[in-house]
Amino acid sequence: MALRTIRTLGDEILTKKCKDVKEITPRINELIDDMFETMYDAEGVGLAAPQVGVLKRIMIVDIGDDAPICLINPRIVDTDGEQTGNEGCLSVPGKVGKVTRPNYVKVLGFDREMKPVEVEGTELKARALIHEIEHLDGHLYTEKVEGALMDAEEAAAQEEEEMIQSDD
Ligand SMILES: [Zn+2]
Repeated sequence: MALRTIRTLGDEILTKKCKDVKEITPRINELIDDMFETMYDAEGVGLAAPQVGVLKRIMIVDIGDDAPICLINPRIVDTDGEQTGNEGCLSVPGKVGKVTRPNYVKVLGFDREMKPVEVEGTELKARALIHEIEHLDGHLYTEKVEGALMDAEEAAAQEEEEMIQSDD
């Protein structure tokens, strides 16, 4: 396993549409292992293959609640509700922005053995799943941010302040 370089905003590869994976080769297995290592090293909750420079429809998510998710050729088949909150991306380091997304999502895809799988999520998990799937079509959350991108540290401090105020 090895850490891969995370491509950042402005890198053209992040705007390209990824190709379907047809079979899991040793090279793809290695890529997936490297993606997990790279995501954990960067303390992210999700990563898509184009973020490490590979234009294939592979994404991973681990929000720390249950088993890590790896999805091949994922597609959204259902959404419901709405949530608005700050979102970040390993390809846009140090920044967050307010994005509105569905509060629930159902995704069909394949696991690492190319077995069909169904993954559902709400709240952060839904947000992460949709965010990563959008990477596979060359889209970044910065395209749908409401207002300006904020400094991640400032935004965290602001959120904390709002929580203290609502305690009064
Ligand atoms: Zn991202």
